[in-house]
Amino acid sequence: MAATSRADIRKCTDADILGDMQDPLRPTDTYLDGAMLERHAALACELIRRYWESLETRQVSSEIKPGDVYRSMPDTAPDIGLGGASFEESLRIIERDFLPALTHWQSPRFFAFFPANISTPAVIGELLSAGIGVQGMLWATSPACTEVEMRVTDWLASMIGLPESFHSTSRHGGGVIQGTASEAILAMLHAARHRARKRIGTPKSHLTSYASTQAHSSFIKAAMISGFASHPEDFEHVRLVENDDRHAMSAARLRELMLADAAQGRIPCFVCATLGTTSSGASDELESIADACDECARLTGVRPWIHVDAAWLGSAFILPEMRASLRGVERVDSFAFNPHKWMLVNFDCDCLFVQDRESLTDSMSVTPEYLRNAATESGDVTDYRDWHVPLGRRFRALKLWLVIRHFGVRGLQEYIRRHIEFACEFEALVRADPRFEVPCERSASLVCFALKQGDAASKSLIERVNTRRNIMLTQTVLPATTKSAKKFVLRMAVGAALTRREDVLRAWDEIRTCADEIQPNC
Ligand code: PLP
Repeated sequence: MAATSRADIRKCTDADILGDMQDPLRPTDTYLDGAMLERHAALACELIRRYWESLETRQVSSEIKPGDVYRSMPDTAPDIGLGGASFEESLRIIERDFLPALTHWQSPRFFAFFPANISTPAVIGELLSAGIGVQGMLWATSPACTEVEMRVTDWLASMIGLPESFHSTSRHGGGVIQGTASEAILAMLHAARHRARKRIGTPKSHLTSYASTQAHSSFIKAAMISGFASHPEDFEHVRLVENDDRHAMSAARLRELMLADAAQGRIPCFVCATLGTTSSGASDELESIADACDECARLTGVRPWIHVDAAWLGSAFILPEMRASLRGVERVDSFAFNPHKWMLVNFDCDCLFVQDRESLTDSMSVTPEYLRNAATESGDVTDYRDWHVPLGRRFRALKLWLVIRHFGVRGLQEYIRRHIEFACEFEALVRADPRFEVPCERSASLVCFALKQGDAASKSLIERVNTRRNIMLTQTVLPATTKSAKKFVLRMAVGAALTRREDVLRAWDEIRTCADEIQPNC
């Protein structure tokens, strides 16, 4: 595409475009114009390709000011459709006004949060799903949409080492794609409460739920949505369990809290364990949590539902050598992870596996006349509408299927292993510099580090690093333990698809340069 200046683009008005159309009120395009799709998709793919190629040289984040993008757009929507003739202009606007105003999550030097992976087959999967445009809420509304999802979630369960009882072929289990890990937690909290009430008919107000102080904030959000809490600090029915010295949930403390609640007539019904916390990547011990839940069940008659949130770390279990923290997983009720974080699948894609699908579907099922059909009534099919909040669902399994076919288990293993190796190398570099410390164990490809000079110095460091925009990191505060006070740390999360070893080395150079500026005398 020829380079066009800002001024040229602005000169090309909507009226110019409309002038080319025979009758602006009756656009010549049909609604599903396959030929136009091909032409426009080719142009859109060119844009994506240019964008991917530009990521090497772009700053990772944008210097845009609040309101700049909003003001660059017209005050009102076009009254008369601009039709296909406007498409190239739309692409120019995207490239000129929108792309520079983004944080480039696919940059090879994006080490913030947890990276959100994409890959060519997954992008094509999104396109195919959009183009095919089915709704798979019931098996009957698009059988392949349901059955491909059942098959790929079964594949995934095997790939990450979950027992057969989480497969759709087991008597009671199965997998489903949810949008996000947050939605999975909400659905599981809801199912847990439903199961507890059904078992002993207890009033809602007696039920309590638990997670560690290091669990993701989506646990509290789910508690707020489902009525366990009215605000984030409402601990009447929610307990945040203190961490141990590894920043994982203290199972001993969980046990104490649950037994104390049970002694006061409350019914602990839900525990959210985390494998790979957002702050430090710590993993709660499933076996000890399950022991505590069994003991509690002997007192109350209700076994708390254990949900495992492995949003980020779950992808690493594709490597057999990473599965130590899965010990005891056969004793949990549900397990969710996000292939959209670290398995080359575009957002959104959270895979949730349950051992007791009936408690979930029972808690969600409402069947108006218009959803009745013979297949459902036969009891022989899975209707995913009862596995989550939304009714409608797109053919999201396609992108997962394409990614797994494209890379294979070995290719995905190699991908994850490489990131872990990069993180090991980064950790060694940090440890070798006497100004720095690594205050908690590296978890897979996540390294937390800090300046020994203290929190203020670490805060200046991340501010300086992120202001230069050559790399991007996020910060967190590690909680206090019996051995250490709470500490402000920087997080280096390796996991973007384009990241190579040299990007990690460059990140370390960048961090060192910024540290030199803060501590010239060290
Ligand atoms: N759980 C953990 C451990 C996370 O790290 C995150 C996000 O980083 C989430 C849940 C929320 O993920 P989602 O955006 O899929 O809801």
